[in-house]
Amino acid sequence: MNKIHMVDVVTEYKKHSVKINEIIEDTLSSGSYIQGERVKSFEKMLSDFLDVKHVISCGNGTDALQVALMALGLKMGDEVLVPSFTFVATVETVCLLGYKPVFVDIDPNSFLLDIKSITKSITKKTKAIIPVHLFGQCCNMGEIKFLAEKFNLFVIEDAAQSIGSKCKQETNKWTYSGTIGDIGTTSFYPSKNLGCIGDGGAIFTNNSDLAKKIRLIVNHGQEERYKYKIIGLNSRLDALQAAILSFKLTLLEDFIIKRKKIADLYNKAFSTLSWLTVPVTQNYSDHVYHQYSLLLSTHICRASFQNYLHEHGIPTMVYYPIPLHKQEAYHQYCTIPLPNSEKTSNCIISIPMHPHLDSKQIDFICNTIKSYNQ
Ligand SMILES: *Cc1c(COP(=O)(O)O)cnc(C)c1O
Repeated sequence: MNKIHMVDVVTEYKKHSVKINEIIEDTLSSGSYIQGERVKSFEKMLSDFLDVKHVISCGNGTDALQVALMALGLKMGDEVLVPSFTFVATVETVCLLGYKPVFVDIDPNSFLLDIKSITKSITKKTKAIIPVHLFGQCCNMGEIKFLAEKFNLFVIEDAAQSIGSKCKQETNKWTYSGTIGDIGTTSFYPSKNLGCIGDGGAIFTNNSDLAKKIRLIVNHGQEERYKYKIIGLNSRLDALQAAILSFKLTLLEDFIIKRKKIADLYNKAFSTLSWLTVPVTQNYSDHVYHQYSLLLSTHICRASFQNYLHEHGIPTMVYYPIPLHKQEAYHQYCTIPLPNSEKTSNCIISIPMHPHLDSKQIDFICNTIKSYNQ
């Protein structure tokens, strides 16, 4: 059996190396390395795929969040609702711009923003909310949009882990994650579901005024060369990354199908185990399994379970071991108890999930977990 990885970027490269090497050589020979045709054409491809009016590429998923927040023109001290159970970038960017993150708890079954906790946290100062479509499953966007309209909040969807995943809205229409709020953001970090070979990110919107502003911000606020309309930054996707992403986008749907099949096999194998809970897909969302995360019963020692799996050559990861409101850098923003975020951090564990796992590896993972003697 081949060595099992959490994410297998090398196998992916090797499977497509002829094509990818050709793209690299073609881009290098073109002499156009920053912006240009390859970037434009990738943005067009992605906007067609997602059915969103504007795709603006940028340097990475963290910049995408920062640029989205800058484009909304909030004021210092404005409150932004964020989950604590997320990757740090979601909150870091809010703080960097001088806005105040207000941590909201998650639903313990979906690990996604809890609607009741959102409602409780809205004040007169609340100006925006950042739903994170964690692990590849979408937040309840119907409910979130309803609250956003009622309280006049901007919605920035952090779709770094959910590209290609769809959410159901009130109208029963299924729409791609990242295209429902005012702005959506994503990351093309190599281990993401649509990954490049370095850093990359993108911003989505159906609002043409916001799109114009976002385009200025990612390129120094520059309208024409050396004419600066607003304060911006330098955050651009390389031509090389764009060219590779255009190719990888053609593989995305197939990769999502493979991830879902693996998740089905895992779900079946583990359904009889009383000491863990498999991820449950909510009725308002699709799941593209950026991560496949199990919740262990409280009597199970996670470290021992991890050791056991590692000894058998099965890697695991804990996303995320400490919620942000418990971190040294962010605990000052902790205002209400977030019991579900804390409980989940203590009991969650992610097992290998990527489209290149073969059936031998999947069987081995299933059987090894099933024979764990807790
Ligand atoms: C990966 C990730 C980001 C940041 O993306 P980078 O490209 O690494 O900057 C932001 N939010 C979430 C939820 C992520 O998983």
